[in-house]
Amino acid sequence: MVDKQELFQRVELLQDQIGHFYQEIGALKLLLNELLEENQNLMVENANLRDRVGFGEEEKTTPGEAKKYLRDLYEDGFHICNINYGSLRKGDCLFCLESLQRT
Ligand SMILES: [Zn+2]
Repeated sequence: MVDKQELFQRVELLQDQIGHFYQEIGALKLLLNELLEENQNLMVENANLRDRVGFGEEEKTTPGEAKKYLRDLYEDGFHICNINYGSLRKGDCLFCLESLQRT
């Protein structure tokens, strides 16, 4: 005989654990977003500071480094557009492509 009660309890336990995993993944995703955003801000700030100090005078594309960073990020499979910034990209995103062209 199968102990139905026990079976139910085990399923519920599993459900709880899955719920917990989801929360954990969600929290990690938020952290990742924050990191990506912080990293981007630092890159832009760094590029601006370099410009001010006078490094990289020969390449006159001002935010060149930030642009490269964004392109790399996009190619790594993340959104760089305002709408979905930092989240995983599935296929091409028109907004991302547009902001790549604008920068
Ligand atoms: Zn996008």
